Amino acid sequence: MMNDREEKFQDALFELLNDLRLTSRENLDGGADCFVDMVGEVASVRTYPDAHLLTMDKGIVLRLKNGDEFQLTIRLSERGKYCDDCGNPYDECSCEEDE
Ligand SMILES: [Zn+2]
Repeated sequence: MMNDREEKFQDALFELLNDLRLTSRENLDGGADCFVDMVGEVASVRTYPDAHLLTMDKGIVLRLKNGDEFQLTIRLSERGKYCDDCGNPYDECSCEEDE
């Protein structure tokens, strides 16, 4: 299913961004350091389900220590590339052969 891909991406992004919250400022490297320099320190990171957002979308709610809160909605591009039933690319899908 499409949602599975987006959910996996959501959960992976959560793990990635959550490091921003857990890592002390001195230990941030490269992109993480740059991120905090540009937007500010991160207070919390939650998935949409954990934040109880009333949506079927997958995504991340990122709150900064200055109180700003951002919602990052996950959208898999080229939705038409995959079978809605089995979630495989159409050239690997055998759903229609079963009927
Ligand atoms: Zn299929």
